[in-house]
Amino acid sequence: IPVDPFDLVIFGGTGDLARRKILPGLFRRFRAGTMPEESRIIGSARSEHTDEEYRQIVSDAIAEFGGDEKDDKTNLDAFLGRLHYVRVDAAGDEGWEDLSALMRDGVIRAFYFSVGPSLFGALAERLHRHGVADDDSRIVVEKPFGRDLASARELNETLRSHFDEHQIYRIDHYLGKETVQNLMAIRFGNVLFEPLWNNHYIDHIQITVAETVGVEGRGAYYDKSGAMRDMVQNHLMQLLCLIAMEPPAMYEADAVRDEKLKVIRALQPVDYHHLVRGQYDQGTEGEPGYREDAGDPRSFTESFVALRCHINNWRWAGVPFYLRTGKKLKARTSEIAVVFQDLGHSIFEGDEKRHRNILVIRLQPNEGIDLQVTIKEPGPGGMRLIDVPLDMTFADALGPEAEDVPDAYERLIMDVFRGNQTLFMRGDEVEAAWAWTDPIIAGWEARGDVPKLYEPGTAGPDDSAMLLHRDNRRWRDIK
Ligand code: NAD
Repeated sequence: IPVDPFDLVIFGGTGDLARRKILPGLFRRFRAGTMPEESRIIGSARSEHTDEEYRQIVSDAIAEFGGDEKDDKTNLDAFLGRLHYVRVDAAGDEGWEDLSALMRDGVIRAFYFSVGPSLFGALAERLHRHGVADDDSRIVVEKPFGRDLASARELNETLRSHFDEHQIYRIDHYLGKETVQNLMAIRFGNVLFEPLWNNHYIDHIQITVAETVGVEGRGAYYDKSGAMRDMVQNHLMQLLCLIAMEPPAMYEADAVRDEKLKVIRALQPVDYHHLVRGQYDQGTEGEPGYREDAGDPRSFTESFVALRCHINNWRWAGVPFYLRTGKKLKARTSEIAVVFQDLGHSIFEGDEKRHRNILVIRLQPNEGIDLQVTIKEPGPGGMRLIDVPLDMTFADALGPEAEDVPDAYERLIMDVFRGNQTLFMRGDEVEAAWAWTDPIIAGWEARGDVPKLYEPGTAGPDDSAMLLHRDNRRWRDIK
């Protein structure tokens, strides 16, 4: 379904994120017919470029980062024809008049802040002061949204002094993933799961976001952040909210976000004993360790976090949520595993093994869902039980239709034009998330906590395995 015609200004339109994700994504939506012909994309940055030069930059970006669609020359030329470039200094006053003159009435105006976070406030203020934005304009704000509660609050105040909350789209691209939305469809669109979704039937929940890459190239930036700020406070907590929230009265932005906020507010502070911090060491073949990548031989910044937390409400009383994320781990995997309780009693004589149903929501790779169920081992060997996955990989189940599934950025950008904020974080959610992570970080700093070194290509430090082992549980394999 096409969105209404728009003018989208991408501040930082020559940057890495714009070239890798935003522009190739917009081209895919253009080809799919979602972006109306009369819409325009206006790239903007501090350097001088003509429209023609900018089209070449974008064409090169699509050739490098686009999929098969990059060979579709006819559509590519039509798409490039919708592109313009204006030189604007986000932190100064140059270029704003030119940008203002370019904006059209009668179309949606959206402004994507794909620049460093120090410029977010300056951009909002200038958009307003130079009259570039109108009352229906939308701004899209990238991560990181603050580095603690105080800075997030300050940024919220700045943005809200120029824009209404309903105009502010704080991106967490995890929420744009197909499977993440499927998580809500599964929970609230089936009669099967919701009755079991509580502490009577669920033993624990594991959320894993594992990366194989290190911080190569962006070490200096990352070193000021660390895994807690860069991954847990936003992506992992958003996943936690969706898995744990109460059913909203309807699938509508504020109804959903109200429920997510309640989850964050019900989170118990994390106990020091239930926290593991890690940092990747040098590889056995001499590959650089975190400290070399970060350019600081004494860095205490973590590239890995594992923790156990609890949600203080009726539904989840006593159910641990285990979260972990890290770089340079053994595989690139993101998943949520809902581990159901053991069967109370087995009627099958000699069956000693504990059988558990596990619902796994895979975000990466092979987005999909599988449900581990117990069945009889095939063959004449009597009633021997085995656990097998009922696998639903979307690409297999949906066939060719799955190919046109928009990626996270594409979907979220189109939601901006549709005025749908359901998959964007509200200001109070972001603040509540910082209010929960701030004491964890402050505790590490106060104690001078040194992260545990772990070997690249593993599942993280041994303490992470111990965190579950102590509770007589274990992490699922990262594969
Ligand atoms: P980048 O450094 O590659 O690009 C920054 C862009 O901003 C460039 O186009 C640059 O010309 C422009 N710019 C810098 N100063 C400016 C000024 N004063 N006025 C106008 N333009 C200016 O950065 P990036 O990796 O594209 O990241 C952009 C934002 O997106 C950051 O907030 C980052 O944290 C966030 N982000 C990036 C990624 C990613 O994969 N790259 C992922 C998630 C979030």
